[in-house]
Amino acid sequence: MADLIQLLPDAIANQIAAGEVIQRPASAVKELMENAIDAGATELKLVIKDAGKGLIQVIDNGCGMSETDARMAFERHATSKIRAAQDLFAIRTMGFRGEALASIAAIAQVEIKTRRHSDELGTRILIEGSEVKTQEPCQCPQGTTISIKNLFFNVPARRNFLKSNPVEMRHINDEFQRIAIANSDIFFSLHHNNNEVFHLPAGKLRQRLIGVFGNPSNKKLVPVAEETEVLRLNGYVGKPEFAKKTRGEQYFFVNNRYIKSNYLNHAVVSAYEELLPNGTYPLYVIFIDIDPRRIDINVHPTKQEIKFEDERLVYNYLRVAVRHALGQYNIMPSLDFEQDPTFSQSAPIRPRPQQESTVNRTDAGGGSQKSAASGNPDETSRHSSNLRHWQDVYEGLDEFDTESSAPALTEGRNDEPLTLESDWQEEQAPASGEQPQKKKSPTQLHNNYIITQIKSGLMLLDQQAAHERILYEQYLNVLAQQKSTTQKQLFPRTLSLPPADAALLKELLEPVNQLGFDIQEFGANTFVINGVPAELAGKQDDLQTIESLLEQYKSNQELNLGTHENIARAMARSAAIKKGKVLETNEMQTLIDQLFGCQIPYLSPSGRRCFITMELDELAKRFEQ
Ligand code: ADP
Ligand code: MG
Repeated sequence: MADLIQLLPDAIANQIAAGEVIQRPASAVKELMENAIDAGATELKLVIKDAGKGLIQVIDNGCGMSETDARMAFERHATSKIRAAQDLFAIRTMGFRGEALASIAAIAQVEIKTRRHSDELGTRILIEGSEVKTQEPCQCPQGTTISIKNLFFNVPARRNFLKSNPVEMRHINDEFQRIAIANSDIFFSLHHNNNEVFHLPAGKLRQRLIGVFGNPSNKKLVPVAEETEVLRLNGYVGKPEFAKKTRGEQYFFVNNRYIKSNYLNHAVVSAYEELLPNGTYPLYVIFIDIDPRRIDINVHPTKQEIKFEDERLVYNYLRVAVRHALGQYNIMPSLDFEQDPTFSQSAPIRPRPQQESTVNRTDAGGGSQKSAASGNPDETSRHSSNLRHWQDVYEGLDEFDTESSAPALTEGRNDEPLTLESDWQEEQAPASGEQPQKKKSPTQLHNNYIITQIKSGLMLLDQQAAHERILYEQYLNVLAQQKSTTQKQLFPRTLSLPPADAALLKELLEPVNQLGFDIQEFGANTFVINGVPAELAGKQDDLQTIESLLEQYKSNQELNLGTHENIARAMARSAAIKKGKVLETNEMQTLIDQLFGCQIPYLSPSGRRCFITMELDELAKRFEQ
């Protein structure tokens, strides 16, 4: 009997292989763009017709190819990027399998024009279904232009399987954006059916993100940068209040290669903790640079998944880095310190006595959150930089007031700091001799909110939510550091509790006393209160505070918080100033200062917003008809 096994003809083998690499027009776009980048292009133009079903063309000004290489490039496993098996573990280029061009040529009509810098004439090759139709010298600019027509012309099943034009175009856009974001130093453009969809000049990452996501994204971005021996992280995360209802603006790049990772996504999202409103997704664009030997990118043919040697480590670094970034830039959602060199020049930071004392007072408000606090040496610098930013917000006002006393409502530049002095603020100023503070005095509304001017407009604080946040961080810190100040009671008081509450208090006596209480058991269900935390002394009824502390603790129990976290929350809740409490100007000022000395000033521990802001242009819009 004759032997049965035969080798497949190349054309068919290539067609089969192509199915792996090229699933849709967007996959071809990705492969061609990556080739252009590997070729050292500084300009890359992508031209698409009919969502890639008609034409996909990539024009680059990279190194080009010799006549022989141009022909070779379409052979399967032909690559200039890998020489030996061990190279596989140190891959820095995007492509490396030598499969893309061969695959594309197997299932489309391909024209390539390419010329190296040193050559006078270039090469033009026409291939259709893996068959070279034409190969000839040609005149062409340096670099390579590859045009793909009639993708899947000989694989009708595949072609019919393609989705509608809008869907396929969305996939192409996605690929284009990923590559454009990963290579901000390269010019990119994208034309679809003769419309220029993107025009992205080479520049810094921030500019590139603004180019891709649109102008308003400028004020949403918080830089992330962290370097360790094992890896380097940089990029941007979005401010929490701009988080979107859909995923989309979320990108990880490992050694400049776009990857998907639920695991790393979790690291970022968890760094936001309670900052994100439910059901929203934060923007992030994070580059992870790591020794290629510590990763395995060869997991999936389309190479969007990656294995790290030590995933846990990457997870932790990432989480801390994002947390740190959010902590450092969490002051004013709308102020962009990095973007505004002119401002910091015209507004030198002058320490003012009140703020210096804030450093001490809010010291406890610093390292409190679970993760970042754990032995983070940056804690103090982060904290002081918080204060510096806060000073920026306030101190800057004086300078601006003199420089531009007229309301500077310029159009279209939302990164410009604006000031607008209003009369009522001057009226409200206290008659004290503190000149620089005069115009800035915050004001209380309905004994519930505090309104104050900030550089970009105005800010409204919820006094109770803000105070809860401040106390919560202070208490967490006290519990972690085990230092507190107790105010001894002149006359100790006794507290009798129902048995269940008494049992709970007994259980919690140690941490509660750590907060500054001095409570002792005194027979069955009774306690003696010898002292209370210094900041509460004389302000509230201590018995009531303790009872409400226990109530809060119990109601938090279903949240499964740790004991310290729960006590800090419960105590913050019961000790915070409440709605309806009249505040003096200096109390309001201290509250504001302390809030912005906090790690997470946005939300109260139970998730209420501590403040909202309104920008001047927003305000101006409200006055338009
Ligand atoms: P890979 O990128 O994995 O090496 P490809 O099939 O995508 O495989 O490309 C094969 C080879 O063709 C590349 O290794 C490279 O040498 C060459 N090549 C492809 N595109 C270009 C380009 N735009 N400019 C210069 N050389 C290119
Ligand atoms: Mg390639």
